[in-house]
Parts: sequence; C-alpha cells; structure tokens
Amino acid sequence: MPFEILAAEAKSILSPVSGFLADAGFTHSLTTARNCTFGCSYCYVPTMRIQAGLKPEDWQRWGQRTTFKSNAAQLLGKSLRPGQVIYCSPLTDPYQPAEAGQALMPGILETLAANPVHRAFVIQTRGPLILRDLPLLRRIPRLRVSFTLTTDRDEIRRIFESGCATIETRLDTMAQLTAAGIPTSAALAPILPCNPEVLVERALGVTNGPIVADPFHVRAVKRSGAHTRAAAHKICQHHGFMEWLEPAFHQRILQRIAAVCQEANRPFGYGPPGFGLLAGGFPLETDPVPVRVLEV
Ligand code: SF4
Repeated sequence: MPFEILAAEAKSILSPVSGFLADAGFTHSLTTARNCTFGCSYCYVPTMRIQAGLKPEDWQRWGQRTTFKSNAAQLLGKSLRPGQVIYCSPLTDPYQPAEAGQALMPGILETLAANPVHRAFVIQTRGPLILRDLPLLRRIPRLRVSFTLTTDRDEIRRIFESGCATIETRLDTMAQLTAAGIPTSAALAPILPCNPEVLVERALGVTNGPIVADPFHVRAVKRSGAHTRAAAHKICQHHGFMEWLEPAFHQRILQRIAAVCQEANRPFGYGPPGFGLLAGGFPLETDPVPVRVLEV
C-alpha cells in the first residue's frame, strides 16, 4: 500500500512535556509530523490516540500516512527560549523516510543555529537520512543525537520493524555521526530479542555518549498511558518471545547491559533517569568523566 504523505500548517511546534520526559528533565518536545511511516509494530504512539494529537485515521492506519507541519521552522523561531530542554521527538521520527522530500529538519536546524538553546536539544532518530544534515548538525551548540538500535539480529529487526534501516546501516550512521564530532548516544529502546552483550558492545563501538535502554512498555509495569502496541505482543506470541514481555526478564537484561557499560566506563541508564542522561547533556568519551551507572 503506498504511503499517504500530507502537509498542513500547525498552530504550535513546541509542547511542554509531562510524565516520562518531564521526569527525565526535558521541558519541551518538538514533533515535525503527525504519524510516522517507519510503522514499527511496537510503537506506543498510536496507543495514546488523541493524547498524542492524533486523529482516528492516524491510529487506525499507523505507519501508512503522515502529515508534516509545513511551518515548523517559522513556528520554532518564535517559540525558542534559551532555558528549554527539547526532545525531538517522542511522537514521530524526525528523519522518517518522507522527510527526504519534505525537508523540514534543515529549516529547524538553521533556526536552532541562529537561536541556540543553553541546555540541550536532543534528536531521537533511527533514520540514516540524518547524515544529509551533517554540516548543519555540526553548527548546533548543545545538540545530542540519540540513535535507536533495538537488536543485534537483523532477522529480528525485519520481524518487528521491517520499515526501518538494517542494523548494519544504523551502526554505520552512528559511526559517521560520532566521527564528525556529534555527541552521539545509543538508545536501545525498546529492547527486542537480542544478545544483550553483543548489542551493547556494538553500540559502544560507534558512539561517544551514554547508553540508554528501555524494555517493552507492558501493562504489568505501566498501568496507564502509552504502552507497546498489540502487534508486537502478537509477534512475540507467534515467535516464542514471550519472556521479552516479562518485567523480571527485563531486569536481568538491563543488568547485563549495565555490566558491559560499567566495564567500558560509559554512563548507562534506563527509563526516565536514563533519558535524563541526554537531557543533562553528556561529555564526549575523551573527556575525563566519572562513570554514572544507574541502579537497575
Ligand atoms: S520510528 Fe519511533 S515513532 Fe516511528 S513508528 Fe517507530 S517507534 Fe513509532
């Protein structure tokens, strides 16, 4: 089925955050589009429905259509304040494939270069398209890129997130960002079936910032609000991955990842404290920083 790519003017571009992101230390989120054509099976955004600013056709056809905010850069220019800590984005991937044609991010980055925030601007993405904007990214003070890597096994990626780039392409993208001097972190989120030691070792090898992780958002832990989509539960059931939905199993996987990060002298965290490592900014690996392995 072809994607439906739309554009419309938005009324605002920065939203004050609450809950998970506020607990992590962010003040605002920036979302360039409604709906995301990566269409991951586990994406929690469509489970939020109108709370995520979606319309019924968005959550009913998640991953098949998207509406870009065509005036994003202009709105941002009027909304930026130095003290903001901005997360881009909790509701879509700013480098989803259709961004190649819409090209909103260059305008957003130009605006940020002209009006830099004094704390942090975090781009959360899994899109290799980010490399298009490398010269611009290098001009943004206090920018951090948090790049998503969910498993070390490409056959698992194909099952859960077939619309996303391969593991090798993502590792190569992270390596190029890091080599260009961009503070780059790995977000192992959600943690899909994997060899945790191999996954985190590979992430450590291509990044210079903290490692952040998050398991599936299951109802046993998250009683309300956003949670892992039913499609991922069905996949787990079909392929015999049910333990990856269990909180006790999550804790064991997180401990194994934490141990590798501790050995590598790299900050690690999960949940809001983990994402807080991004909100607080992070030094490059070459700087003499104390290890901050968070409790798991
Ligand atoms: S890339 Fe992120 S926002 Fe887009 S579908 Fe996947 S999980 Fe959802």
